[in-house]
Amino acid sequence: MFDVVIVGLGIAGYTAAIYCARYKLKVLLVGAEEGGMGNTAAEVGNWPGEIEIRGPDLMEKFKKHAVSFTDQVTFKIARVKDIQKMGSEFELVLEGDEKVMGKTVIFATGSNKRHLGIKGEEEFSGKGVTYCATCDAFFYRNKTVAVIGGGDSAVEGAAIAAQVAAKVYLVHRKNSFRAEPYWVEKVKEKKNVEFVLERNIVEVIGDQPSPAAAGLRPASKKVTGIKLDQPYNGSDTIAVDGVFIEIGSNPAVELPKKLGCALDTKGFLQVDEAQRTNIAGIFGAGDLTSASNHFAQFTTAAGEATVAANSAFNYLQAGK
Ligand code: NDP
Repeated sequence: MFDVVIVGLGIAGYTAAIYCARYKLKVLLVGAEEGGMGNTAAEVGNWPGEIEIRGPDLMEKFKKHAVSFTDQVTFKIARVKDIQKMGSEFELVLEGDEKVMGKTVIFATGSNKRHLGIKGEEEFSGKGVTYCATCDAFFYRNKTVAVIGGGDSAVEGAAIAAQVAAKVYLVHRKNSFRAEPYWVEKVKEKKNVEFVLERNIVEVIGDQPSPAAAGLRPASKKVTGIKLDQPYNGSDTIAVDGVFIEIGSNPAVELPKKLGCALDTKGFLQVDEAQRTNIAGIFGAGDLTSASNHFAQFTTAAGEATVAANSAFNYLQAGK
């Protein structure tokens, strides 16, 4: 029986584990993927104390810190498949059908990238269509790519892609960006970034290779362009080799929803000022919650996790 099961291996999960360990709680830190969204940041310039650091490097530091509490923290990479309430405790079913029990649970499961839902998107997913510009840009050296969106992920992604790609089209449905001015300025400085504004992408176009000749492997499908809802420079298509769709994320609330946790009107896990959900013993921290004005940052995730760990500690103390 663990005092706290923390689900999620991103900033919020690691931070919650550090605090819970220092409260001398018995912690299971479990998640499907190490690093979460933090791993996808090419350059982090807003984590206090680090003027500039790569996301994966920062996440490695978080992990190292969390697992250094060897007496307190059990670390496991496994997807949590199911959760149910059993009396005042919680049973979680992990991949491989291992069952673990927790007196409390902190959900730090983050968010999943949104898809556009347009023709060709699924067909060419992984064949030129990807959902992380900063992770995949380096596969497009000297090629032409389109980045879709106008938030931090898209604008930062376009700036990073411009360092290696020959040409980057930043396609956004508005004529102004919601991204941090730092990144907007940075991308505007890039000579190889072209802004395609007030346009939506309606289709991903790709080649359909003809069947392979006998004895030869068929050529793989690949993206050749995007189609827009209205012409740009006289044409409604733009030739590209890759499309990075960066139109935001949806909170990963499947498990808390299953348990009966309330969501806010936008579909985020509803938490109060102490990061408590409506179910006693269940807490939330990071990008999946209604807290921090939905502002998904390293600092807000760490802050929420700090409060969630404190609340889990107080809850356990009160039950003694
Ligand atoms: P956001 O939700 O902030 O932005 C999504 C963008 O995609 C918006 O510009 C939106 O347009 C556009 N969009 C949404 N749906 C569609 C659609 N169907 N078709 C076309 N365009 C669409 O997501 P991000 O992933 O950029 O950021 C998520 C959170 O993570 C934010 O809180 C952000 O601050 C944070 N983040 C921070 C970073 C940093 O600090 N360096 C880096 C990356 C993310 P519109 O503007 O018209 O609504």
